[in-house]
Amino acid sequence: MARILDGKVIAAAVKQDLAMEIAQLREKEVQPKLVVVLVGDDAASASYVRSKERMARELGLEAEVIKLSADVSESELMRQIELQNADDSVDAVLVQLPLPEHIDTDWVLMGVDPTKDVDGFHPQNIGRYAIGSPLVWPCTTAGILEILERANAPVAGQTAVVVGRSRIVGWPTAQLLLAHNATVVQCHRQTRNLAEFTRQADILVVAAGQAGLIRADDVKAGAVVIDVGINRVDGHLVGDVDFDSVVQKAGAITPVPGGVGPLTVAMLMKNTVRLARIRRLTKEDER
Ligand code: NAD
Repeated sequence: MARILDGKVIAAAVKQDLAMEIAQLREKEVQPKLVVVLVGDDAASASYVRSKERMARELGLEAEVIKLSADVSESELMRQIELQNADDSVDAVLVQLPLPEHIDTDWVLMGVDPTKDVDGFHPQNIGRYAIGSPLVWPCTTAGILEILERANAPVAGQTAVVVGRSRIVGWPTAQLLLAHNATVVQCHRQTRNLAEFTRQADILVVAAGQAGLIRADDVKAGAVVIDVGINRVDGHLVGDVDFDSVVQKAGAITPVPGGVGPLTVAMLMKNTVRLARIRRLTKEDER
């Protein structure tokens, strides 16, 4: 029976460490600030933004939400982002996705100052994945590492298989595992014989958005299984991994809900603090 990696417990530990770190920064008169730009009135996006704002305040971060109407022009949105780029009190800028269809998301993400790119989606940060050191890793990817580290699961030398190669989760996660010296296989929709790869994984990360994609037969005994998927089936949230069968075979597994999800917002806060440290503290201060 696998060890259950409880994301709520891990997120609580991350938040506790962060609250202390933020209090210490405030003693040095550094007040980290996150700005979230929210376009339109999509209910899910508004609720994600509220939870980000709530957690920021809870931890002692300053948080501001800039709300723009769904029909905002691309140039007005860019102007708002540029104002945040130029504002020295702002450490981190997040543009809540998805954006309305008339807006070119890639163009907008390129407009965020790379040193304030808290989601790690700016091409400059993406380019830095190649040298294994972006200023920050995207929040879900960073959360996966946090889970592995806090579970004392070794990464270096392990065979890691990542199912999914999206820009938001799968691809950066594979890059992060490689940067931590795992041997990485990246699978995607066109991978033939997926199970041949997943069965070799010491660490299996599944981020495909397909309920029940991975079953016990697809997993090596004792593997660490990180299920990123969020799917609604018959009114319930489930992951991409068939939890009930895989939990009997894996060595450790994240549940859905309550696994990777709770870490994602906590890592946004951690990334904000990291960007504030990089921008505001000299090497001397950090000693
Ligand atoms: P996406 O649709 O952008 O990408 C899915 C990826 O999975 C693609 O690369 C695709 O090629 C691959 N894929 C799909 N079906 C496959 C199959 N049958 N075999 C192999 N590969 C397959 O999705 P995304 O944004 O990367 O999100 C993936 C899942 O993770 C979704 O369920 C999403 O809701 C969830 N998610 C969770 C969090 C969190 O915080 N827990 C954050 C982001 C995304």
